[in-house]
Amino acid sequence: MKRLGRSARTPAGAATPGFEEARLARTIAAVMFLAGAVTVMLVLAAPDVDPSDHTGFRVIAALAVLGAAVIWLGRLEGLAAIVVYGIGLVSAAVYVAKPISGTPSFYLWPLLFGAYFVGRRWVLAMLALAWTAFGIALALRPDVEMRAILFMDTVITISVAVAVVVFLRERVSELVGHLRHSAITDPLTGLVNRRGFEEALERELARAARTGAPVALVVFDLDHFKQLNDTHGHAAGDRALVAFAKLLRRSARRGDVLARIGGEEFAAILYDADANAALAFAERVVERQRAGDREAPLTVSAGVAAATPPLPSRDQLFEAADRALYAAKRAGRARVRLGEIARTAVLTDTG
Ligand code: GH3
Ligand code: MG
Ligand code: MG
Repeated sequence: MKRLGRSARTPAGAATPGFEEARLARTIAAVMFLAGAVTVMLVLAAPDVDPSDHTGFRVIAALAVLGAAVIWLGRLEGLAAIVVYGIGLVSAAVYVAKPISGTPSFYLWPLLFGAYFVGRRWVLAMLALAWTAFGIALALRPDVEMRAILFMDTVITISVAVAVVVFLRERVSELVGHLRHSAITDPLTGLVNRRGFEEALERELARAARTGAPVALVVFDLDHFKQLNDTHGHAAGDRALVAFAKLLRRSARRGDVLARIGGEEFAAILYDADANAALAFAERVVERQRAGDREAPLTVSAGVAAATPPLPSRDQLFEAADRALYAAKRAGRARVRLGEIARTAVLTDTG
């Protein structure tokens, strides 16, 4: 078995797409807010602006700067979005209540931005609020003709645009979920694949380091699998792989990570399990595989490595389990061996 790939060395979570996406969106929205504020200021500075416009513009400008600060500094995406959304509503109400010149974009984009980040329920509540706010704003205005036009132009545009944003967001997150799932799933057995295994092992070690719980890793390799392929065909080999995956599922607890990390190589990451618990699990799997009712006899060998804090690196844990697996092979196959973790490598690894 090869050493674990370098690609998965980054800490788990660092490359989560949603995180980067949220940060980018926040930056864009902050720039847009500031640009809006500057535009409003420029309009105010122009000599031919009706003085009655000023209050509305000032309110929008102040809210825009506040919105930029909230988005820029905000650590809570959801809360920041709700604040932005509220700002958009107030801006919209000001826009309607004060007959200022300008485009609907002043209030449209904060609402669209907010709609991307907050949940569907919040969006519905905010839309209901928008309609109420517009209703009140319009009731306060005397000219009936303007009211109808503004209502058509504003409330309907906002509602449709926000609905589209919410729909797109849900579609995107659904697709990202599907892609993420297929990226870490082995199609033959439905277990986690090598990439998912590496991520899970990193995550499990980080969690154990925080909680002080032990972590155990068991690697399995089917014995003389090539012979089964050669004598019974590739399809029979595939069926044996699927059957072994089922056996693993049956033998593990919920929450343990089960992976197919190579052709006929499997791994189990056992949370909160010490060496004894991991050995018992591995023995159970090896025994069930030996006793199994199959078209051709097929046994499995296993290597176990378990650690408590101070924890080894992912590679050290994996290599210990892998060495134990080969010790089991050399000792005659269809058995389990416990590996020793070589901690000296810590120096060369981090140095
Ligand atoms: P050992 O007991 O030493 O592990 O012997 P082995 O024959 O299992 O060892 P080896 O690693 O040489 O052979 C693994 C074989 O697994 C080689 C390949 O033909 C087969 N294999 C790898 N992936 C698949 C797969 O997806 N389906 C099938 N049917 N066979 C596979
Ligand atoms: Mg092998
Ligand atoms: Mg093998």
